[in-house]
Amino acid sequence: MKNMTPCRIAEVCGGIYHGTKETGIREIESITTDSRQAAEGCLFVAVKGERVDGHDFIPSVFEKGAACVVCEREPEHPSGSWIQVKSSLQAIKDMAEFYRKQLDIQVVGITGSVGKTSTKEVIASVLSEKYRVLKTLGNFNNELGLPLTVFRLREEHQIAVLEMGISDFGEMHRLSKIARPDVCVITNIGQCHLEYLKDRDGVLRAKSEIFDFMQPEGRIVLNGDDDKLSAVQEVKGVNPLFFGVESGREIYADEIEPRGLKGIRCRIHAGEESFGVQIPIPGFHMVLNALAATAVGISMGLTTEQVKSGIEKLQSLGGRFHMIEKGDMLIIDDCYNANPVSMKASLDVLKDAERRTVAVLGDMFELGENEASLHREVGVYAGEKGINLLICTGELSSHMAEAAIRAGGCETVVHVPNLERLMEVLPRLVQGDDTILVKASHGMHFEKVVELLSEL
Ligand code: ATP
Ligand code: MG
Repeated sequence: MKNMTPCRIAEVCGGIYHGTKETGIREIESITTDSRQAAEGCLFVAVKGERVDGHDFIPSVFEKGAACVVCEREPEHPSGSWIQVKSSLQAIKDMAEFYRKQLDIQVVGITGSVGKTSTKEVIASVLSEKYRVLKTLGNFNNELGLPLTVFRLREEHQIAVLEMGISDFGEMHRLSKIARPDVCVITNIGQCHLEYLKDRDGVLRAKSEIFDFMQPEGRIVLNGDDDKLSAVQEVKGVNPLFFGVESGREIYADEIEPRGLKGIRCRIHAGEESFGVQIPIPGFHMVLNALAATAVGISMGLTTEQVKSGIEKLQSLGGRFHMIEKGDMLIIDDCYNANPVSMKASLDVLKDAERRTVAVLGDMFELGENEASLHREVGVYAGEKGINLLICTGELSSHMAEAAIRAGGCETVVHVPNLERLMEVLPRLVQGDDTILVKASHGMHFEKVVELLSEL
């Protein structure tokens, strides 16, 4: 890793290096906080977590050939070099900031209340048509995940596409300091984390901290359909580039045509040019995400052909409308999260399947006092869409099942009290050529359902 020697790292983190001069001036190969991933020449950072303390693994990482260890207290009988710091977490941030600053790459930073990961995936797919891209893996978007992503950058990369997530004021300021984005993207301003951010204006202020360390020649890409974002004007002399469907902004889409499980088609307009594109993941929101990627692609010098090709090559991520074919059975793994809006959107797509449709739905959490009626709404909706078999799991989902039975429309409705019971009965309920949607709030652990179905 360029210029990342233990001596320099100690200086950057305000720590003290203990070790040989030879090791002190040799660049490390990688940085990890996970002792299982420690390898020859790596720097291991010992972080004290809630359940495990990284300091306990120092002997084992030296055995694996770690070049150096960053830790908060002196290791017992250290068998290699180490750097003592006050806070390992702060050291991680300091190292990431230093490392990013001296790399000759462009950073695209993505934030927003919903759709960060999905948008990040489309942007990375598009930019990969022209550049060598590194992107955040999964959801590594916070004050630990962002630095760990930055540490994966190497000199061969030209662009980093980084997801940035927060829950309080000040956090985005710190993430921006690490990422120093060349391009800042905000997907929308929703009602998340209101316990700290109070209202949507608070959310906007907190997300806008992403501009704090934007590079001098920075670009800003915002969702013009979002009322809060569309009101943003010049920031640091930069005029935002807006995308949107409803608002007729610079980058927009029309001729939108859902294609069932195949995704969604639309025509994207960018300045004088326009192109028809088949987005391979269903859902209206994917049009917005593709527009964001178009805006970023164009502002980074891609042609519309390259943008189109990148969007069409997009691959789905596990848990987010990810399709798994198993013989004649099609499993739609949408278990990452759920709320009434996304449940209905997924049922809309499921209903178009050619074979028997099965919806395995579970409780949706954090819905407040209307939770029972919101579950009922989803039950009624499943009936209206004529889903053949509806399986509702969990205490709140009993409202969903009751409402679906009362409304009619589904051939069979089943309610089971919990995941354990579901795992017992599911193999008997499904058939080898079903199309099965699996969706619930994250806390329901429906990834186990997907696993079970995949192994049938
Ligand atoms: P997290 O805060 O957990 O990191 P996120 O912001 O990364 O979430 P995603 O994981 O991309 O969000 O999307 C979560 C769900 O929101 C998706 O499964 C999809 O149903 C929906 N979604 C995706 N993109 C958008 C969008 N642009 N607008 C609204 N909803 C979206
Ligand atoms: Mg995410």
